[in-house]
Amino acid sequence: MTTWEPSIAIERIHPMSSSLLSDRLSDPPAPTTTHTTTSTDPRPADLMRRLTGNVLLPGDPTWDEARLGWSRRWSPQPLAIVRAADTADVATTVRFARETDTPLTIRSGGHSLAGHGGADDAILLDLGGLRGMTIDPEARIAQAGPGLTGGAYAAAAQAHGLATPHGDTSTVGLGGLTLGGGIGWLARAYGLTIDSLLAAEMVTADGECLVVDADHEPELFWGLRGGGGNLGIVTRFTLRLHDVQRFLGGVIALPMTRATIQGVLAAGLAAPDGLTLIPTLMHLPPLPFVAAEHVGMPSMVVLVAWTGDIEAGQRALAPIRALAPAYADMVAPMPYPAIYSLTEPATQPTMDSSRSSFLSHLDDSMAEGLIEGMAHAPSPESMIQLRVLGGAMGRVPVDATAFAHRTPPFMAVIISTTDDAARLPAHDAWVGSMADVIAPAGTGVYVNFLHREGPERVRAAYPGTTYDRLVALKRHWDPTNLFRWNQNIAP
Ligand SMILES: Cc1cc2nc3c(=O)[nH]c(=O)nc-3n(C[C@H](O)[C@H](O)[C@H](O)COP(=O)(O)OP(=O)(O)OC[C@H]3O[C@@H](n4cnc5c(N)ncnc54)[C@H](O)[C@@H]3O)c2cc1C
Repeated sequence: MTTWEPSIAIERIHPMSSSLLSDRLSDPPAPTTTHTTTSTDPRPADLMRRLTGNVLLPGDPTWDEARLGWSRRWSPQPLAIVRAADTADVATTVRFARETDTPLTIRSGGHSLAGHGGADDAILLDLGGLRGMTIDPEARIAQAGPGLTGGAYAAAAQAHGLATPHGDTSTVGLGGLTLGGGIGWLARAYGLTIDSLLAAEMVTADGECLVVDADHEPELFWGLRGGGGNLGIVTRFTLRLHDVQRFLGGVIALPMTRATIQGVLAAGLAAPDGLTLIPTLMHLPPLPFVAAEHVGMPSMVVLVAWTGDIEAGQRALAPIRALAPAYADMVAPMPYPAIYSLTEPATQPTMDSSRSSFLSHLDDSMAEGLIEGMAHAPSPESMIQLRVLGGAMGRVPVDATAFAHRTPPFMAVIISTTDDAARLPAHDAWVGSMADVIAPAGTGVYVNFLHREGPERVRAAYPGTTYDRLVALKRHWDPTNLFRWNQNIAP
C-alpha cells in the first residue's frame, strides 16, 4: 500500500482579472460575480484568437490521445478540441457552438462510461485544464475546477486533515462525478459529493455566467445536483470539507459464499456511518498480500473505508471478520487519499462492459446466481460490486436534490473490461446475464453508471417527480438541447 503524497499546486481558479477578460471579449462575462449576463458577437472566424486556451485540430501529433476518454470502447472524431483555460473560454465556445449550430460535447475528467465526452463532427470542449483549487481550512470550504480529479483533490485537502466525498477511483473528474451525484468512500459518513456542494459557477446554454446556490436560482441548483450536466457547464464547484484525520482502509478477502455475501451486506448496513464498504465479487488477483495458493480464488473482496476513531473502526469490522477465515486481511490506518491505491488498476483506459442498478435487497437465490455467474466470467478482471449505501447519503430527503435514489440499501455495479474489441460481445453477454440475476430487486439506476442504454434507463435514474422537474428546468435553461451529449433529458 503506497501513501498518496499531495502533488498538485494550489492555485487560484480564475487568476485573470475582469479587465483582462474584457480585453478578449466584447462584453465582459465577469464569471466570478453572481447572475451576470454576457451577450457578445461570437465572431466564429476568430474563435481561436479569442480563447486564452488553445484549439487542437485533427492532424496534431497529440490528437488521438486528446480525443479519447477513459473508455476506449468509443472512438470519437471531433471537429476540434477546445482546451478551455477559464470560464470566459467556456462561454465563448458555447456561444460559438450555438451560433454556428455546431454540436458541442463537454469533457472534464473523461471517464464517461457512455463516451459522452466526445462525438463525431462536434466541438469537444475539454475542461481538463480547469483544475485549480483553493482551500479555506478554517471555514472548511474548497473551490475546485471541474477538471480536477478526485485523487488530486483528496491529496490537497488531506494536507489540512480534510476531505470531500468523491468516487472510488482517483482519476475520475470532479465535473461529471459531481453533476451525477458522486458515490464513494465517504458516502455513509458524509453523503454524496453533491451533499457537500455549496455553490456552482456555471455557463448556461446562452453563454451566460452564473453562480448558483441555495439562494440564487435554487431550482437550478437542485437540478445541478444529479441532473448530469444537462443544464449547463460548471466551471467551478464550492464544496464543504469534512474532518477525515483518522482513517482506516484496506481489504478483507473472504471466500465467496452465499453466507459471506449476505453477512457482509448485513454488517455493512448495520455498521455506524463511519464505515463505507464496497464488497466486490471477483477472482483474487496476484497481489503481494495474497498467498500464492489463493490467487484466482473466487472471493468476496470487501473494500473498507472507515473514518473516525480507529479502535471503533476495528470493532465495526469484527462482524465481517467473524464470517469466515479470510484469504487476506490488510486493513490498516492510512491517510485517506491512500485508499485510492486499492482501485489503481481501474485508472487505466480500457474497453468496458458494465450495467448497474440500485437494489431493494439481495436474496439468497440472487446471491447464488451471482456466484454461479462469476464461475463463467469472461475475464479474471470481471467483477460485481455490491456497494452498501445508507448512512448520511440515505438521510437526505429524496426531493432535496435531483439525485433522488436515497433509500435503496445497495447498488450493484457489474463490470467487465478487455483490451480486445473482438471479445466485447462476450463481455456484454455476461454483464447482461448478471444484470438479469439481480433485476427482480432493481429499483432504478445511478445516472453516472449508465452506459448508452436508451431513454427508459435515463428515466429510471430520476424517479417520481424528479424527471418532470428536470424537464421543466431543461425547457427553461436549454430549450434547444445544446447540452445533449449526456444522459439526456429532452426539453
Ligand atoms: C473507472 C471508473 C470509476 C468510477 N467510479 C465511480 C465512483 O466510485 N462513484 C461515482 O459516483 N461514479 C464513478 N464513476 C462514474 C463517474 O462518476 C462518471 O463516469 C462521471 O461522468 C465521470 O466524470 P468525468 O468528468 O471524469 O467524465 P467526463 O467524460 O469528462 O464527463 C462525463 C459527462 O459529464 C458531463 N460533464 C462533465 N463535466 C461537466 C461540466 N463541468 N459541466 C457540465 N457537464 C459536465 C458531460 O455530459 C460529460 O459527457 C466511475 C467511472 C469510471 C470510469
